[in-house]
Amino acid sequence: MPDDFLEHCLQILEERGVRLEDIADCARYLQADYHVDLTAEELEESVRAVLSKRETQYAVMTAIELDKCAEEGKMSDKYLTDALMRDEALFGSDEVLAYGICNTYGSIALTNFGFIDKKKYGIIKKINREGKNTGRCNTFLDDVVGAIAASAASRFAHRWKREESE
Ligand code: MG
Repeated sequence: MPDDFLEHCLQILEERGVRLEDIADCARYLQADYHVDLTAEELEESVRAVLSKRETQYAVMTAIELDKCAEEGKMSDKYLTDALMRDEALFGSDEVLAYGICNTYGSIALTNFGFIDKKKYGIIKKINREGKNTGRCNTFLDDVVGAIAASAASRFAHRWKREESE
């Protein structure tokens, strides 16, 4: 299955309300201080590249599956379900899963992730709100989306530097 995985991930993200363009817009936001005129479309290629990595794809599938299992009451641990449904602040494993994506894109990706996780820009703000005491669980989703945007911004920054020096 060469890149069925990429299409599959785009589809399950979309089913949870997240489009490729939304992630590209978050990546644009992270680069806006350095590249004022950069458009979200210009970052779509980087988002696709991040989403083409198996590690990212498995993180996306894991995140969405865990959110859905919590939402549908399919988990056997009631404390875990409760923490996920409340998006418990001390939970932390959602961020740890997301770090796995950032780790392949260096330290800029990690600092970008911390920044956008705090700022909750765009689609991240929307899904974060949607997942608070509404019957909807987006506890893992907001972090993987933030990590993909952060990694795409980092990839873009590295490429820009390289092209500039060539
Ligand atoms: Mg979260």
